[in-house]
Amino acid sequence: MVVKIMLKQHIGAPDTPIVKKGDEVKKGQLIAEPAGLGANIHSSVYGTVSEVTGDAITIDAASEQPDEYVKIKPTDDILEAIKEAGVIGAGGAGFPTHVKLKADLKDGVVIANSAECEPTLHHNITFVEKDPNTVIRGLKYAMEVTGSKKGIVAIKPRHAQAVRALEAAVKDEKNIEIKFLPDLYPAGDERVIVREILGIDLTPGELPLKAGAVICNVETLKNIARAVEERRPVITKDVTAGGRLKDAKTGKVFLDVPIGIPAKVLIDKCGGYVEPHGEIIAGGAFTGKHGSEDMPITKTLGGVGVAMPFPNEKRKVGILGCECGAQQPRLKEIAKGMGAEVVAAVNCKRMEDIGKGRLRCNKPGVCPGQAESVLQLKKMGAQVLLVGSCQH
Ligand code: SF4
Repeated sequence: MVVKIMLKQHIGAPDTPIVKKGDEVKKGQLIAEPAGLGANIHSSVYGTVSEVTGDAITIDAASEQPDEYVKIKPTDDILEAIKEAGVIGAGGAGFPTHVKLKADLKDGVVIANSAECEPTLHHNITFVEKDPNTVIRGLKYAMEVTGSKKGIVAIKPRHAQAVRALEAAVKDEKNIEIKFLPDLYPAGDERVIVREILGIDLTPGELPLKAGAVICNVETLKNIARAVEERRPVITKDVTAGGRLKDAKTGKVFLDVPIGIPAKVLIDKCGGYVEPHGEIIAGGAFTGKHGSEDMPITKTLGGVGVAMPFPNEKRKVGILGCECGAQQPRLKEIAKGMGAEVVAAVNCKRMEDIGKGRLRCNKPGVCPGQAESVLQLKKMGAQVLLVGSCQH
């Protein structure tokens, strides 16, 4: 099998490869280093490097793949272990975790984000149900490294089995508690978590640190625990595959998928497509993007979705973007798939430009009525709308 390991899986610049074509590599071996803000990248397989470009390292995987891997160098320094292991925010943001945790939280809190908001994904909750203790140990390492005396696990009460598992895991932990998030989308957004759990409203663009908090996705915490305890680099990703797939209509969870394998491997493991099928989506249904069978699994790709074929739309389309759901570029992509002409595009009125063209919602999940925008789009010639928000 050919494995394609992307050099940019994190926020920041693409990594610099340190292997060349023809090199034999081992599972866990460091193959690329950060060039500025970034994180180490390791081979997820034993094999031979067949190509190195500015975007990716391609490896022909050997037929035998033993479980053993090259461990990161020994260290007693938690932050160093996290850095060496190449841990980044696994929830999708991809921010390097060793940078995020360089925070002084003497009077603050580390929050484990177990919201898993995207309706089609459930690999985070599955892992919490299966192994809550690893999540809690990862949380404790994050607390130790930031000096925080308090840890919180944020989860929606409807995940009853995961809640019970967590309750058992924290019963002897005096400094860790479980707090509930409302059952809304996007409850997993960091500013929503700060608002709902700590009662502090952050303005668009402000980070949780402003409220004395650092938030880590539960899979990131798992990777922290593995880096510290097993000297294990990040070489796998938990993924949910679902949609028009024979054995995975409501989603099938794959834990520890080797990074770099093509999405098609998971599609085949789900029995192949239900025909007719449409677009392959990289990520969740709300915030995912157009993907392909060839797209490689990365440290942040948590979803492989297969949609219905696009309907054929001949009417003129108006677009209403939402920061937390589908934004304008994604809606335009969908319109293109439908063969539709886009005649107008506006954003939800809560979206603010925080500079450099970055748009942020000023009250995620507290969505306004969109009548004004709808009328505006109609006036601009739209006969039918594509709406990115989940609420209206
Ligand atoms: S307020 Fe608007 S931009 Fe924010 S989540 Fe709701 S619909 Fe999206």
